Amino acid sequence: AEDLAGQHVTVAGLGVSGVPAARALHALGARVTVVNGGDGERERGEAAALSNLGVTVRLGDGETLPPGTDLVVTTPGWKPAAPLFTAAAAARVPVWGDVELAWRLRGPGAADWLAVTGTNGKTTTVRMLAAILTAAGLRTAAVGNIGVSLVETVLSGEPYDVLAVELSSYQLHWAPSVRPHSAAVLNLAPDHLDWHGSMAGYAADKGRVYTGNRVACVYNTADPATEDLVRAADVEEGCRAIGFTLGPPAPSQLGLVDGLLIDRAFVADRRGSAQELAGTTDVDPPAPHNIANALAAAALARAYGVPPGAVRDGLRAFRPDAHRITHIATVDGIGYVDDSKATNPHATAASLAAYDHVVWIAGGLAKGADFDDLVAGAAGRLRAVVLIGADRALIADALRRHAPEVPVVDLERTDTGAMAAAVGAATELALPGDTVLLAPACASMDMFTNYGMRGDVFAAAVRALPSQASPSQ
Ligand code: ADP
Repeated sequence: AEDLAGQHVTVAGLGVSGVPAARALHALGARVTVVNGGDGERERGEAAALSNLGVTVRLGDGETLPPGTDLVVTTPGWKPAAPLFTAAAAARVPVWGDVELAWRLRGPGAADWLAVTGTNGKTTTVRMLAAILTAAGLRTAAVGNIGVSLVETVLSGEPYDVLAVELSSYQLHWAPSVRPHSAAVLNLAPDHLDWHGSMAGYAADKGRVYTGNRVACVYNTADPATEDLVRAADVEEGCRAIGFTLGPPAPSQLGLVDGLLIDRAFVADRRGSAQELAGTTDVDPPAPHNIANALAAAALARAYGVPPGAVRDGLRAFRPDAHRITHIATVDGIGYVDDSKATNPHATAASLAAYDHVVWIAGGLAKGADFDDLVAGAAGRLRAVVLIGADRALIADALRRHAPEVPVVDLERTDTGAMAAAVGAATELALPGDTVLLAPACASMDMFTNYGMRGDVFAAAVRALPSQASPSQ
């Protein structure tokens, strides 16, 4: 493992990953300075706590590189073009993300990483993978971008066999030496372009997950861009490209035959060329995009040598996280579904496709996204649309172009209370049998602390709806 004792390390940012990184570096004997542009109340509180430990904190200037810095450790909020990194590059000071730091701090004989990235489905797939690995009797954890610090995991000293690691494009951007055992890119659609600068930059960062893979690079046959990334990747000799498909699998693929998840990639048994893993009804919920997630998780587990029965048992044990197509209630025949985690058009397209008649609640921060394909593809399913949030006009424009007959209510609001108004407006527009779907296609930070709070406020508004009949599940 890397020895950072005595090194001058500058940590960029006092956020959820910056603070644990600063603490870990300090505990390793590094001389730590945390820099942060903002100096609000929260920052001053964090700064006081770190200062007590002996960490230097500089608030109000996130741009100048502290003199004598040997290493910069950065956190996801910081764009690659930030002046601090320009200064670091000019001074030939390396920049690591928290994932790079975790990788460098691994001890001898450390757990292998099975990595998952992609625009959508990462958290779900990583949780499915961890459930499968657990069912196989392996010591494992779901970690990384999922909200569990990899640095803390690596330093915990827990004797893991293998980790199910969610990596964001931000983390991969600053993780040059990470080498997973195997990795999957689930899909690739425009997101976070404001951060990466371009689709090409975003794709290249995602593609880094395949670098140095030893056993399998898992890609989505329905998304050729993911296969292109495998082709471009620099992998270990003998590493295989493994596709997953919602159709019948070709050799070296996992796919579906007659409602069964079938493996034609990792079949040891010479008599057969295909191995049954599980049924689609073992996947919760059995929506197409989620079965794709299950196939990707199964591919990584099989690459690691997990037997078929454990794939089935793990998928059966898996339950989805909150705010991911979560059914809240049915009131007077209208279903209310919280997919607040649908924070980009690609995710929203997947959830809209799961319902025939939808009153769609959308809007928030668009992050540079384009809504034309989403709206054109979903037009036939839309009963009506209710818009809230900062960038709602972008969605309204796309609706005018591609779904001019669909009624649109623009609440012209960005306050937290707008959600209850949106639920009320959607209820008036819905017919019995319809689904009111919160799938905003946008980030939440214009109106809420995060997507979880957005979903909770939606659910509370649904539960407060007056009903002629009594609500049912
Ligand atoms: P991530 O961690 O990548 O944000 P999640 O598993 O949390 O992904 O799912 C986020 C949202 O993306 C879900 O609520 C759903 O709307 C959508 N989604 C999940 N899996 C897929 C997929 N394979 N393809 C497209 N959209 C998906």
